[in-house]
Amino acid sequence: MTHPMPVGTAPALVTDGEWIIRGAQVLDVGTGESARRDLAVAAGIVVPVADVPDAAEVDATGLTVLFGLWDCHAHPGSLMYDPTGQSYFEGPAEWSVRAGHNLMAAAQLGVTGVRATAEASRVDLTWSRAFEQGLVAGPRLRCAGAGIRTTGGHGTAFPRRAIEVEWEIAADGPAEMRRAVRSLIEQGVHWIKVMLTGGLYSAHETVEDSQLTDDEFEAVLDIANRRGVPVAAHCGSARVAERFARAGGRSVEHGYALDERAATAMAAAGTWLVPTIGVTHDEAMMVEDGWPDHAQFRARSSAARHAEAMLACAEAGVRIATGADLNPIGPRLHAELVLLQRAGLTPLQVLYAATAGGRALNGLGEATAPVPGTAADLIFTEGNPLAEWSVLAQPRAVMTFGRFVKTLA
Ligand SMILES: [Zn+2]
Repeated sequence: MTHPMPVGTAPALVTDGEWIIRGAQVLDVGTGESARRDLAVAAGIVVPVADVPDAAEVDATGLTVLFGLWDCHAHPGSLMYDPTGQSYFEGPAEWSVRAGHNLMAAAQLGVTGVRATAEASRVDLTWSRAFEQGLVAGPRLRCAGAGIRTTGGHGTAFPRRAIEVEWEIAADGPAEMRRAVRSLIEQGVHWIKVMLTGGLYSAHETVEDSQLTDDEFEAVLDIANRRGVPVAAHCGSARVAERFARAGGRSVEHGYALDERAATAMAAAGTWLVPTIGVTHDEAMMVEDGWPDHAQFRARSSAARHAEAMLACAEAGVRIATGADLNPIGPRLHAELVLLQRAGLTPLQVLYAATAGGRALNGLGEATAPVPGTAADLIFTEGNPLAEWSVLAQPRAVMTFGRFVKTLA
């Protein structure tokens, strides 16, 4: 007997279940091909249909099903630039509620995975556990906890800074770097995020200035590599990215001024790029979000080179995953995917980077389509996004950890 898809869009509590999903076109984001095939899900994993004879059946005829989207560069509670100074007064609890709301809303838009690349007061780790346990419905998280920077380095938000939440760790010298990495590992982070160069955000820097001394750089990579925790580097500079790749760094964030030599080194080392192209290309966003003059100027003057750097990486075979670096996560990630295509990636390259790429970067395996054994983080769209991109932004249903977080209404 076929049961209809359960109704509702944001259940307060999430039900675990076993499902057989009938009639959908299953899209492979590696090849771009789709085929009509039944899928089964149990205990958060795609399983053979024959394994769950008693599962509830869902009729997904006419829909396309594919792996859900990843925002691999997010700060869920960030109030970037915070022109009203709200974060000055917020404690971790209030900050956390905002971050959680942002993440839950993103899941409703098909974002089934979020890598938090610097977040305050372990808010990311807290929500990660809540979503995984099914206390509330939200995306799968991979968390870096607080970001590591040098005193006065990237992320310094002079003259305003949150005083109640621990947003970053300012560390100087190799001993403090080692302690910062180790204390984050003790908190249970999945990633280490380190600010290796300047960027757009802070006033007194450029996108290419190298901010760590050699011994500080080596201390971070040494401890993280020993403990098997991947490192994501805020990095605009080609030479610093090249060095980071050779030292075993896992992902370069932004990569504003990468060149062919850096791209070759990254490809050889298996170092990923998360380009966040919107932060230099989305000028309307900069105005809307109240970016200060220094940031708008630096973004506009970096934009052309940033796109060239990304295309050089794609050409060299560097693996790319998507991240928006902006809030709210859902709408900004969807905007990022369009901007990546305008900057020169093909729709299939973008869809891969946004789905299977995010999964692979975050240790969920190399599969490009939901087959038995893969984590059941899925979206159901009204047609094939490669034929009609806009269907991605309005998923009909969304599943994370094998649970429906948005059901067919
Ligand atoms: Zn960022």
